This record gives sequence, C-alpha cells and structure tokens, in this order.
Amino acid sequence: MEIRLDQVTLEETDSRLTATPEELQPDLELAKLCSDVEYRLVHHRVDKEIFLSGRVSFILEFTCARCLENYRRNFLVPLNLVLQLVAEEQMEDADETDDEFIPYPESKPVYNLDRHLRDLITLEVPMKPLCRDDCAGLCSQCGANLNNSSCNCRTERTDPRWEGLRRLGNEN
Ligand SMILES: [Zn+2]
Ligand SMILES: [Zn+2]
Repeated sequence: MEIRLDQVTLEETDSRLTATPEELQPDLELAKLCSDVEYRLVHHRVDKEIFLSGRVSFILEFTCARCLENYRRNFLVPLNLVLQLVAEEQMEDADETDDEFIPYPESKPVYNLDRHLRDLITLEVPMKPLCRDDCAGLCSQCGANLNNSSCNCRTERTDPRWEGLRRLGNEN
C-alpha cells in the first residue's frame, strides 16, 4: 500500500487505500487475514511534515484455543503517522526509533505503508484466541463441542479433585 507524497498538499484530503492479503502477506501464526486491508485516512502537508491519520479495517480468522472452531472478527484500528521529510544526506542522522514521527527522504515521491500495516495486524492477534470469553470448549471424553450441545458423559463425570473426599465419605 503506497501513498503518493507528491500529491499531498496543505489542504486536508480524504483518501482510501487498499491492499490485498497477497500483497501484504502478514506473518501470522494463530490467525489468517481473510479480507482486503483498507486504510481510510485524511492527509495534509505542513512545510516538511506530512500528516496521515485514519483507521485501518480488516477481518481476521482465528481458531479458538478451547473449542477449535474457526471464527472471524472485524477490526478497525487507528493508524496515525507523521513523515518528516529530510534531505537524503540527513537520513543517516535521523532518529528512526519513533513509531509515529518517521524521517523520510524528501526526494522520494511514494511512501510504502506495508510494514506499519503488518505490525498493526500482528498486534491484534491474541496469545490465546477464544471465540468468546466463556467458551465452554470440548468435552475431554467424547469431544463434543459444549457450546452447542451437552453430552452425557458430562453429568456422569466426577471432578477428580473431589475423589478423595468421596472415598472418605464412603468409609464413614
Ligand atoms: Zn471456542
Ligand atoms: Zn462428552
């Protein structure tokens, strides 16, 4: 996803940029990007600074860590950047540690946003994806999805932590 810097002016302008999953290829372990990534933004330029501000929308598919069903979530995440245009020879001294203020050679007419988009998408992937907070998971005995149905083994199963107590009770 590239933005034409030479077309950004003092006047605030709405834009819409789109990238496909094939173009972006985010490196995700526990999720799959299953929609185009769309960036709706307003941009303008003041002197040597280009301001980009807007929101990125996309859909991710996860596999629930408890019930193993696939589920999708829509995301709408803010992405705000300021490009500070500097002469090529100043790039070496430029501070590139800031995520929001980015030095960029003023001679280049386009800026590629792909790295920012990949980072932004990766940050939305949870360590342990759950289809819902109270997902009941699978029955450990018959494998039934306990969100959709209850199984018979569930009621017969006794919690092993109470096993000792139960035996005590039988002895008396
Ligand atoms: Zn689940
Ligand atoms: Zn069961």
